[in-house]
Amino acid sequence: MSNPDWNEFDFATTAVRAGHVRTHEGEHSEAIFSTSSFVFQNAAEAAARFQNKLPGNVYSRFTNPTVRTFEQRLAALEGGECCVATSSGMAAIMATCVALLEAGDHIVAASGMFGSTTQLFKKYLTRMGNPVDFAQIDCIDDWRNKITPQTKMLFLETPTNPLTQLADIAALAEIAEKNNALLVVDNCFCTPVLQKPLDLGAHIVIHSATKFIDGQGRCVGGAVVGDKQRVGEDIFAYLRTAGPTMSPFNAWVFLKGLETLEIRMQRHCESAAKLAQWLQDEPSVERVHYPGLSQHPQHELCKQQQTGFGGIVSIEVSGGKEAAWKVINSTELLSITANLGDAKTTITHPATTTHGRITDEERAAAGISDGLLRIAVGLESPEDIFTDLKRGL
Ligand SMILES: *Cc1c(COP(=O)(O)O)cnc(C)c1O
Repeated sequence: MSNPDWNEFDFATTAVRAGHVRTHEGEHSEAIFSTSSFVFQNAAEAAARFQNKLPGNVYSRFTNPTVRTFEQRLAALEGGECCVATSSGMAAIMATCVALLEAGDHIVAASGMFGSTTQLFKKYLTRMGNPVDFAQIDCIDDWRNKITPQTKMLFLETPTNPLTQLADIAALAEIAEKNNALLVVDNCFCTPVLQKPLDLGAHIVIHSATKFIDGQGRCVGGAVVGDKQRVGEDIFAYLRTAGPTMSPFNAWVFLKGLETLEIRMQRHCESAAKLAQWLQDEPSVERVHYPGLSQHPQHELCKQQQTGFGGIVSIEVSGGKEAAWKVINSTELLSITANLGDAKTTITHPATTTHGRITDEERAAAGISDGLLRIAVGLESPEDIFTDLKRGL
């Protein structure tokens, strides 16, 4: 089985096996090719490799066998033709925009995205000649209204963090198609276990591998998945020139993460669902944001679009910031940190951390109240997580 068609295999099998090419040493676990350059048999082979006339590795900023194994495995899991790995999730977004947009091309992005993504668009891409407008993620008409004749890209992440609002990917893919624009989906929160944006019509999928793909909070990395021309040629060409490539060691950690991704995501989802139910019955909890709850405004869309409801639960406690901080400060088990997708449950107060630098009006418009807490549910026992939260509720 040197290069099988992974479409014929189930997700779990692909996640464990795809992309691995065993060397003459017969290693069972994938090797880490920690080498910056590669050696040629003779001068003619060197010349041919440099001119792309012979396939093969030249330098690890261009290609590396461990990184390639990760890329092929993630491409197979997302159902894309091609994947390129990057040094971080942000590098994946930057590479996609720089490689695929011309100066003057307009972007419509979802409001309420990851802070650095919003900042990258507002501060840097605008400066490079790519104006951006933000659309209310769950309002198709708003997306339609923000599109101009210059719009070349729609960009979103779904569900949003921390309020778990969803974008209707298939509906937006149709709008993108009609307007000759690309639909780019950051699939960090769902991973291909829960959501396959390419199957729903998106052109490009972005990952911060740092989160659920690693799953244990060890390495920073990212990836772009899509078709051969845009990802395999255009974005790859940018990466090999500009340099934000993934290190072989990080690729190896992420490969190992992919092997357990499905069972981890199932556990994240199960525990988050239990916790959301329990928290709903707490008198000091005014509101629970979780797409798995039947009263979530997009519960039905979530059931169509995702195969699970995800591992992130947000709650609004009565008593504002003081009450929210009390919950955080009463925890003994949970980690007070903004990272997510980790085996360890994390708790964050968005109004004073991730959303602390925006104005009060912007925060109110984004729906980030002072009593809001985000819990990225880890792999501990859900009962223990609940007990730890209850201390301060
Ligand atoms: C963390 C994150 C990113 C950025 O990824 P890094 O690996 O930290 O660069 C992008 N999008 C989302 C949704 C994220 O959560």
